[in-house]
Amino acid sequence: MRQITEPARRVNVVVETDVIVVGSGPGGLAAALAAARAGVDVALVERFGCFGGNITAVGVEGFAWYRHEATVEAGGIGREFETRAQEMGAAVPESQSLSYELDSEGFKIVADRLVEEAGIQPMLHRQFVAPVMDGDRVIGIITESKAGREAILAKLVIDATGDADVAHRAGAPTHMTPRESMMAASVMFHLAGVDKRAFMEGIKADPQTYRDWGGGGEWTIETSGKEDDMFSPFIKKPFDRAIEEGLIPPHLNTIAGTWGAMHDTGELTYMNLIHLDEVDGTDPDSLTRGEIEGRRQAMLAIEALRRFMPGCGQARLRNFGMTIGIRDTRKIDAAYNMTETDVREQGRFEDSIGIYPEFIDGYGILILPTTGRYMQLPYRSMLPKKIRGLLVAGRSTGGDRISHAATRNMSCCAVVGQAAGVAAAQAVKSNRDFGEVDLAAVQSELKRQGVRIH
Ligand SMILES: Cc1cc2nc3c(=O)[nH]c(=O)nc-3n(C[C@H](O)[C@H](O)[C@H](O)COP(=O)(O)OP(=O)(O)OC[C@H]3O[C@@H](n4cnc5c(N)ncnc54)[C@H](O)[C@@H]3O)c2cc1C
Repeated sequence: MRQITEPARRVNVVVETDVIVVGSGPGGLAAALAAARAGVDVALVERFGCFGGNITAVGVEGFAWYRHEATVEAGGIGREFETRAQEMGAAVPESQSLSYELDSEGFKIVADRLVEEAGIQPMLHRQFVAPVMDGDRVIGIITESKAGREAILAKLVIDATGDADVAHRAGAPTHMTPRESMMAASVMFHLAGVDKRAFMEGIKADPQTYRDWGGGGEWTIETSGKEDDMFSPFIKKPFDRAIEEGLIPPHLNTIAGTWGAMHDTGELTYMNLIHLDEVDGTDPDSLTRGEIEGRRQAMLAIEALRRFMPGCGQARLRNFGMTIGIRDTRKIDAAYNMTETDVREQGRFEDSIGIYPEFIDGYGILILPTTGRYMQLPYRSMLPKKIRGLLVAGRSTGGDRISHAATRNMSCCAVVGQAAGVAAAQAVKSNRDFGEVDLAAVQSELKRQGVRIH
């Protein structure tokens, strides 16, 4: 490929702080809150105009749809996201679990409020583009925005971009699932104008279960058996019918999936129905194709719902997520990489920084934590190799494919994020790097912040 040389330039240092958190999804938002609450100065840098990551930017509202009576989990900031959203009118009871479904729009306000209350420096509309390095140590970041390039310096940096952007550009080893076996990307949408009563009657008349996920098309599904007869807000039949009637082309038998909340006001939200294979979230050309194809398929899905789903006759598109939803990109090669055995067999670790219920969702597996089983999450899975001054939180922590199907879940990202934030505060206060942090002190502050770590 032809190349040009960019001239070197001087860049303004707009902020110097203790901790920079890059990315504000469940991982980054929890990290920033935890660090600030542990008493250090924090700047939270986000490329979009709102905090919340996939919750707000993509419209992923099902924060804890795995929760049942016996489920044991960490609590902490992830749980606070739900309760705070509920208190602020930005969550409704979720249809298949003992949890609250977040309102993707309302959560923007919840996140603003949490950031403000914690005294975090909010830095929206800035995209991280390069690390500032001192040898092998990350000492800050360069962002691009309408103001051009700016530098932000810090004692420590947390990469919560979901794509390990900072780690990757700093030279830490990362890996990705090959495109052909990556988890599908999804263009998410919400509907307006649905007749709630007719829709719910239709659901009750023909309830779907998790077993139905495996009914051809996109998924074959491995469960532990106990999930098979449980209710799932799954929709496929209207799309099968649309294929039979020639409305949807047969190769789009991947259109199927779950609905989120049916609001009294006629909005049917978190429509997770479009699954696009081989979309690489680190390649803008691939993302461009995914966005356009995803919107095309979403409009076909809406037409099928209008024709064949009770209550949807007058439905119309309310909105798409601000961006395509990506499930699977870079993961770091960490000091410890979590394994399939760790997530299937209740992994236990000396350096546990939180627990996560046995919830595995992805790569054709669905296991729900209905029996109280849970795994511990090791601190070392956030520590990248070769690079100092950096911790990675959220879905790009170290682990194999199947472990990703557990750790990618939003409430797990929040557990890990909270620990990253506490570790950063502890490291700043003791003038140490992430690799030398006093883990007993981190665990004790996490407990003080309400996290169950064993
Ligand atoms: C369609 C879909 C449905 C899903 N359904 C569920 C579900 O029901 N339940 C569940 O628990 N999980 C679900 N997931 C998975 C879950 O949403 C993600 O794995 C989780 O949000 C990851 O959290 P995170 O904090 O690591 O990253 P993200 O939520 O992706 O947040 C990363 C943030 O970093 C910002 N960012 C990225 N790069 C940069 C940069 N260079 N500079 C500045 N900012 C940057 C992004 O804008 C974003 O705000 C779903 C995912 C998708 C795509």
